[in-house]
Amino acid sequence: MELVDSTRYRLGDVDRAIAAFQAELGGDAVVTDPEHLKAARDPYTYVESDQFDPSAMVMPSSTEEVQAVVRIANEHGTPLWMWSQGKNVTYGGPAPRVKGSVVVNLSRMNRVLEVNEDLAYAVVEPGVRWFDLYDALEAAGGRCWTSIPDLGWGSVIANSTEYGRGYTPMGDHPENLIGQEVVLPTGELMRTGFGALPDSVGRYVYKHGFGPRLDGLFFQSGNGIIVNSGFWLQRRPEKYAVIWLSFRGDEALVRVVDTMREALLEKSIHNHPVIMRGTTLDSDGNTTFSTDQDAWLTRFAVYGREGVVDATLKALHDQFDVIPTLEWAREVVYDGTKREGFPSHDDRVMAGIPDLDILDLFQQVYGPPGAHLDFSPTGRMVGTEVLETAKLIQEGYEEVGAPFFSGLMISPRNVLHVSSAFYDVKDEAQTRKVYENYTRMVDVMAARGQQVYRTHLQHQDHVQSKLSFNDHIQRRVAEAIKDTLDPNGVLQPGKAGIWAKRYREDRGE
Ligand SMILES: Cc1cc2nc3c(=O)[nH]c(=O)nc-3n(C[C@H](O)[C@H](O)[C@H](O)COP(=O)(O)OP(=O)(O)OC[C@H]3O[C@@H](n4cnc5c(N)ncnc54)[C@H](O)[C@@H]3O)c2cc1C
Repeated sequence: MELVDSTRYRLGDVDRAIAAFQAELGGDAVVTDPEHLKAARDPYTYVESDQFDPSAMVMPSSTEEVQAVVRIANEHGTPLWMWSQGKNVTYGGPAPRVKGSVVVNLSRMNRVLEVNEDLAYAVVEPGVRWFDLYDALEAAGGRCWTSIPDLGWGSVIANSTEYGRGYTPMGDHPENLIGQEVVLPTGELMRTGFGALPDSVGRYVYKHGFGPRLDGLFFQSGNGIIVNSGFWLQRRPEKYAVIWLSFRGDEALVRVVDTMREALLEKSIHNHPVIMRGTTLDSDGNTTFSTDQDAWLTRFAVYGREGVVDATLKALHDQFDVIPTLEWAREVVYDGTKREGFPSHDDRVMAGIPDLDILDLFQQVYGPPGAHLDFSPTGRMVGTEVLETAKLIQEGYEEVGAPFFSGLMISPRNVLHVSSAFYDVKDEAQTRKVYENYTRMVDVMAARGQQVYRTHLQHQDHVQSKLSFNDHIQRRVAEAIKDTLDPNGVLQPGKAGIWAKRYREDRGE
């Protein structure tokens, strides 16, 4: 099942590092027994694989303890791999890229440090899940909604650093992070943006800071461990309208995409819609997978004062009703104060109310754990191009007979063509086939100028290798930054295909 080598790297003196972690953090914060270390295993990998197994897990409870962990790792040359909830499944979950790394589990740092309802932001530690943020917002008075991904189990900070997506007007999660406090790979503490000014009033309200904007250095990278951050929220609307449209066939898809782009640019659709292929909808708004690949659904929402929502819905009818085969499968207007009693996950997710309901949907094909590999090339929000990409992805899966589901995540100009290929983790040959097919599909899409935005440990080097403009200068700059910030190469080696100098030597580069 191994597409990449995870064992050729020097690990430093792991045993002495573990002893030092135990002395510094206490025994209950350091896990070494194999049974408990299963928590740091990718649940969607082949069951017998030990390719990405860590040697230990440490669980710091404070910024000072994170700094101590990093200091010890530097002393012993031990690679660290951090996560906040470890739910980055389909991308490797909690597992490290280098076998034998020590994973840093930040879930004990789980305080919501501030909710500012007037200015609509919260300040959170990395262990704060979407469930926790939702509860804190309701407890604070309910005037703010958070955007959330489909599953409430993940970390607000981690999901955002992975360029995670949600389905409200603020669904581009990395754009919501602001004023991060970061432990650098050397153990020093840094604040981004106007957090650099002691007692700054602008830290959580003004994004750009002064000089180069450094927040992005800590996204999809091993350049630092974010120990707290601001996160922007949305004002609770007076009314919230859920819309589902169903349509069939190629022509309708092209017209829906082009119409939706205009509606998004005109701001008559307010959130990040999803277009789904091969799903059916019941009258409560619950979806089920179907084998009918001609059947399409789209879901989106409108928020605001009652008069604005009414007028916007009327305008949307005028725009979409002319499309052949299109039907308004569902249209419901809720009060913004309603937080309970929704009939479906989709109604909740566009209102920022977290759940785990769709895990069941993903277990329909092969049962638990619902293993799937997400292939997510970007595309442009142009109907004919979306159709072409959708057909290529369909062919890509049909060639190898992999069952799949597509959910296109929409922004005004961009489409993330997220498709999930299902497999049985007990079947090594099938698992390998899905992973190898992914590599091939990356090649097909990159040749068309379409790059995936996030990927599994098995494919991070391959996806990075496609960014070849001017002799891979983007990677070389990222490596230069990495080598400066992380001179001993202790943090997150191989994340997004970026390796510190010592590992590049181990790789013979
Ligand atoms: C059925 C299903 C549906 C899903 N739907 C969505 C969806 O709608 N939207 C979406 O975005 N995802 C979705 N996911 C993917 C995933 O579950 C979420 O993105 C989840 O939030 C990621 O896990 P996590 O938050 O626990 O991140 P973690 O596993 O904790 O971390 C992921 C990575 O983030 C980085 N990181 C973590 N913590 C820090 C830190 N403190 N500082 C710096 N870097 C850090 C590390 O590189 C780490 O490897 C879905 C998955 C499944 C199975």
